Amino acid sequence: MYDPFHEVLSDVRGTILKQARALDRPVIGVMPAYFPLELVYASGGFPVQLWGNRLAPSRADAYLQSYCCSVARSAMELELAGGADMVRGYAFTSLCDTLVNLREVYRRVVDKPTVELSIPVTQTAEARRNYLSSGLDKVNRGLQEMAGGRMTPESLAEASELYGRVRALQRRLYALRLERAGLVSNLDFYAVLKAGSFLGPEYYAKLLSDLLEKLDSMDPPEDSGPRLLLSGLVYDPLELHRILDRLGVRVVQDDFANGWRTVSKETLAVENLVEGVARYLFGPAPCCCLYNPENDRHDYLVDHARKAGADGVLFWYLKFCEPDAFDRPQLMKRLTDEGIPSSVVELELSMQNFDAIGTRLSAFCEMLEG
Ligand code: SF4
Repeated sequence: MYDPFHEVLSDVRGTILKQARALDRPVIGVMPAYFPLELVYASGGFPVQLWGNRLAPSRADAYLQSYCCSVARSAMELELAGGADMVRGYAFTSLCDTLVNLREVYRRVVDKPTVELSIPVTQTAEARRNYLSSGLDKVNRGLQEMAGGRMTPESLAEASELYGRVRALQRRLYALRLERAGLVSNLDFYAVLKAGSFLGPEYYAKLLSDLLEKLDSMDPPEDSGPRLLLSGLVYDPLELHRILDRLGVRVVQDDFANGWRTVSKETLAVENLVEGVARYLFGPAPCCCLYNPENDRHDYLVDHARKAGADGVLFWYLKFCEPDAFDRPQLMKRLTDEGIPSSVVELELSMQNFDAIGTRLSAFCEMLEG
């Protein structure tokens, strides 16, 4: 049932090349996070999301410090090692200092065009719209030059419908996992999500619909194992989900930037694109990288965990993501105050040995069950 998704992940490069040929669109690499894929697609490109990979950095070390996050270092390694030769250009956001600087490094070292969607850091929704209205045209022009297409109201509406449909289907998968905990293994669940980063939206939507149809008629296994909510930037490395499966953990919800924080975004409203992009970026889930005084992350996480009936929260910390690290102590304290146990695991995307983390997780699960 999950083979098509795992096959994508076992040959990402082959998948991207095949999909780009079928779509007859140039591949545009989209860096984390929250860059609306709709804009790339409406400009004639095939957006492929690059949230990092398992490559151990070596060439990238010549340009990035060893304390840069795994996402940035592994993406740079992929480019320098020639693994991203099919990528015509890159779309960045200004999500964090690392990404802003990474784009500058790419501009000097990589002979490919880049665009950057600057995410506003302002007090009000109105200021956000004002800020975006001055930069969005430039981003769209850059995307069209890169992808070679023309963004029209029709192409925007088509892209918005396609990616809106994909996220709605992913939300159904999240809802099924919550209602029937254990029905989908943790590894399969995140493989299904991740495969979507490398597939055309129409093809991926069809795979998702077929999967959901099969899952709809299935019952979950008997209750067992603690219910966890995972929180972090990216749900990789997937190997860790295999360990959670082995421990009998049922992940019932997440708060990943490339998980629920993205999947929960509604269809991009394109009639007023500035307004639509502002709403897309800032809603509905808060993020350590988005400044939005109207959406408190502490309240949100407590509420999110309670609604999911989570026994505990596991922080999935990717070294050395500063925004995530800065938020965590206060979040953990608030969870403790609310009687929700939490723990943290520190990860690298390229890590191979999970023994110590497995032991730590096992102890956390015993504590939750005890
Ligand atoms: S993992 Fe953190 S530091 Fe790295 S790109 Fe993402 S938000 Fe920035």
